[in-house]
Parts: sequence; structure tokens; C-alpha cells
Amino acid sequence: MKKGIIVFLSLCLAFCCVSCKDSAKHECSYTQTVTNEEYKASEATCQKSAEYFYSCKCGKRGNGKFSHGARADHIYQDDKCIYCQREPFATETNKSLCVYITPTGIRYHYLSTCAGKNAKPITKNDAIRLGYTGCKKCTR
Ligand SMILES: [Zn+2]
Ligand SMILES: [Zn+2]
Ligand SMILES: [Zn+2]
Repeated sequence: MKKGIIVFLSLCLAFCCVSCKDSAKHECSYTQTVTNEEYKASEATCQKSAEYFYSCKCGKRGNGKFSHGARADHIYQDDKCIYCQREPFATETNKSLCVYITPTGIRYHYLSTCAGKNAKPITKNDAIRLGYTGCKKCTR
């Protein structure tokens, strides 16, 4: 009787061991697209989204990468974006459109000559935020 139990127990142990080895040794398939810091391959820049490594269900990360999320803002250093060399006041969109204001004026101008001597460049967005309104002569 005792022998029977021992055999049963060791069989059970052997079986358990096989199955736990199995789960540790599964074929990893890197199909998960987990997007947390752990799987981040590179940060987002103004040029591209952040990249992440594909991962397996077990948490192992693969070699393949995918991009996810929005692009980041430009990072300006010495008046140029460190990634794309773009200048802060480049006229690309209305948002970053360069206008001119004067410390005493209430209008923003598209032409520095119209703004006058103390003209200082600023983005249109900032000008509007500061309460400036478009000059009737040069912003229409
Ligand atoms: Zn795996
Ligand atoms: Zn940039
Ligand atoms: Zn003007």
C-alpha cells in the first residue's frame, strides 16, 4: 500500500515537472503590442512616433518593432529643432506663423516693416493669446 502511494506521488511529481517545463519552454510568438516603458525602443520625436518592441504573452520581448502614438513636439535648441532643424518661427501653419508685435501696440503684424521699429517676432498663437489682434493693413 505504502509503495503504491510513493509511486503515485512520484508519478505525479514527474508529470508536474514535465508540464511546468513545458510552459517555461513554449515557443514565443511576438504578437503582443504592449506599449509601456518596458517595451519602448525609442522615444517619439517630431519626425516619427515612439517605437516599441513586439512581445510574447510571457513578457519576453522580440526584435521586431512597431510605432505607436503621436509624434512629439519639436525640441528647440539654439533656435533650431534638434531633430529636424526647423526654426521656431518657420511659417508652416497658422499656429506657428510668425507675426510681429511691438511692446506698446495692440495689433500683430505680418510685416515687420508695418509693425515698426520695435517689432519683435512671436508666433501668431502667442500673439493672440496675449490679446493682440490682427493689423488691418497687413494681416488681411
Ligand atoms: Zn514567450
Ligand atoms: Zn522638429
Ligand atoms: Zn500691420
